[in-house]
Amino acid sequence: MCSWGHLRHSMRYDGRGALIRVTSSAAGDGARGESCWSSGMRPAYDRLATLDEVLRRAGELSPKTLVFDVEPLVADWNGGQEALDQGLRSVLARARTIPGVVVVCFATNSMRRPSAPLAGDDVRVVYLAAAGKPLRTGYYRGFPRPGVVIGDQLATDGALARRLGYAFLQYLPDLGSLPPGPRVMDWCGRLVRPLLFARATD
Ligand SMILES: [Mg+2]
Repeated sequence: MCSWGHLRHSMRYDGRGALIRVTSSAAGDGARGESCWSSGMRPAYDRLATLDEVLRRAGELSPKTLVFDVEPLVADWNGGQEALDQGLRSVLARARTIPGVVVVCFATNSMRRPSAPLAGDDVRVVYLAAAGKPLRTGYYRGFPRPGVVIGDQLATDGALARRLGYAFLQYLPDLGSLPPGPRVMDWCGRLVRPLLFARATD
């Protein structure tokens, strides 16, 4: 039986279409995979604890579009403008290095915005504030597929990925560091996850 209740367990495709359970440390280093279930046409879903893991896993999916949630992967909820600007520059610089990526989109339901337009050079960069995830999907209509949504909330980011037909990589740092609001959202997301993605079984 596959466990979903702990960050150190995650699901990954093994490159041959089989979904495997992977056990890794909280620091995101080692990985031990075991066959769990075959995926068929089901969208990819994975839980990852570090930005390094997220970007590595995203690269394995060979996406043309990456949609990043902003808080907390790019910037902490309570960070200031400079933290947001720096986080966006940092994540964008790394996302651009993934081969084949054409669009990098940052989407937050908050009102936060960067202090200056983001320069993507060889990739198209889109920043969406008050994005209305998961209800508003029109923003993403012209983005090339395949795409990946990366975020911490199943109820918003995961649901958006499901609606777009994108893979979903759930970024989950230490749950103890979550503020009360996102923590409640995380519990809500756990409730709706079976509706969005297949339950992992033997
Ligand atoms: Mg978030």
